[in-house]
Amino acid sequence: MAFIKFLGTAGGRFVVARQLRYSAGIYISHEGTSLILDPGPGTLVRCARVRPAIDVTKLDGLILSHAHLDHSNDANILLDAINQGGLRKAGALFCPRDCLEGDNPVILRYLRNNLERIEILQAETSYLLGNISFWTSVRHRHPVETYGLIFDFSGHKVGFLVDTAYFKGLAASYLGVKTLVINVVRYHPPKGYLLEHLHIADVKRLLKEIAPQRAVLTHFGMTMLRARPEKVADELTWELGIPVMAAHDGLHLEV
Ligand SMILES: [Zn+2]
Repeated sequence: MAFIKFLGTAGGRFVVARQLRYSAGIYISHEGTSLILDPGPGTLVRCARVRPAIDVTKLDGLILSHAHLDHSNDANILLDAINQGGLRKAGALFCPRDCLEGDNPVILRYLRNNLERIEILQAETSYLLGNISFWTSVRHRHPVETYGLIFDFSGHKVGFLVDTAYFKGLAASYLGVKTLVINVVRYHPPKGYLLEHLHIADVKRLLKEIAPQRAVLTHFGMTMLRARPEKVADELTWELGIPVMAAHDGLHLEV
């Protein structure tokens, strides 16, 4: 059995800046292997404070869907914890290339040699970390290189459809997932500028296309919090006939 714990559910810049929701990542554990997906600001603290506490020195690795701060801020301190400040070579890191190279690498260079391995995420590619197998989606439409993740927990596929604008062909990567977690920052699309994030009309379209057995909304910005995520999820459930829930900080899902 796998379990998934939403350490945080914040998405938009103000929700993160004011910590209206925590911006910690998602803890995933399956058959003795554990990792954190997208360790945003506060992940280390949340791991220590949740009950039962998560011992970060026991994590097997991290996955960064992309380099943005709300997905990567605590990656360095967690990697340092896993390899115990360089005392041992440990920890696997999976991330797109631009997390490591280019103008804004987010992983400190001195830490890299202490890791057991670093794997560069590419589109539609499979990866294995201990007993957790996962693969990437097509490249998302987002300002930096971004991939969604699909995990296979003993036949139960769980997709994490992370930050992206909607585009034709996005849904194809997630077909067949039983549980779909969707990052939805906006309730309505913003007026007058292009934001490469999903809003609720996009989510409806994606849920119809992907038809998972259940969906979980997360990564909320201000407009979603104002619209009350639980209410929005209930409306989607009623309209689409698919159980949709809104994640809250600390939500524990069993798979
Ligand atoms: Zn982003």
